[in-house]
Amino acid sequence: MNLETYAKNTWCPGCGNFGILNAVKNVIKEFGDYRKFVLVSGIGCHAKIVDYVNVNSFYSIHGRVPSTASGIKLGNPDLKVIGFAGDGDAYGEGLEHLIFAAKRNIDITMIIHNNRLYALTTGQFSPTSPYGFRGRSTPKGTVEEPLNPIKLMLVSGATFVARSFAGDLKHLQDIIKKAVEHKGFSIVDVLQPCITFFNTYDFYMKNIYKLDDHDPSDIKKALKKADEWNYVDGGKIPIGIFYKTEKPTYDELILRGRNPSKM
Ligand code: SF4
Repeated sequence: MNLETYAKNTWCPGCGNFGILNAVKNVIKEFGDYRKFVLVSGIGCHAKIVDYVNVNSFYSIHGRVPSTASGIKLGNPDLKVIGFAGDGDAYGEGLEHLIFAAKRNIDITMIIHNNRLYALTTGQFSPTSPYGFRGRSTPKGTVEEPLNPIKLMLVSGATFVARSFAGDLKHLQDIIKKAVEHKGFSIVDVLQPCITFFNTYDFYMKNIYKLDDHDPSDIKKALKKADEWNYVDGGKIPIGIFYKTEKPTYDELILRGRNPSKM
């Protein structure tokens, strides 16, 4: 299966987006029928990913990836819809859309290219930038604490919550595959170094560890794990599946007229 396109890749050499692109292509190849997939992106460096994979795709607008992906899923529930968004896109402009997609448990996958700043606009702080981050809009350092998206998604009702690292292709591919296979709303927060404005490769390489002995069916344990690292530069960083559960999905309930009380 050839998923290459004619589009020239304009990401900076070494950008973490390449890891996400390769992992997604490999997952689509593993599934086999690429016509089942629709990719949706927002606005930002991440968004170009839909130009680089030869499957049906849709450029959305800033913050509206979950809504667009939801509409596509409701239009054709047999499709596997994957939304891509940056941290500013998903956790800033589109936060309410993300929360409600999680709350509804619509059967889509969101992959967040979390480089912890606005990169396309040359390095302004974002909702996950660490406290004290110095960028174009905060030359003296931001005075805001970062948002913890893992914790936020857990309390919003997401039925699959995971974190991975763009520098670990095998782990990322495995987690994305599991997220796509999951029936319900799945989100993978991908730590994606921006080599140009916030190069975090060394920091992640030193501090990341894998959630091998964690029980992802226990929400309380998931919340505790989510608190281990709060997107500030310090401490060990767990990656893997924090939480996974089964619940009726929004698309199923709406489109097939099923009453949850009778399921
Ligand atoms: Fe990647 Fe940063 Fe370059 Fe954007 S600016 S392509 S996020 S390295």
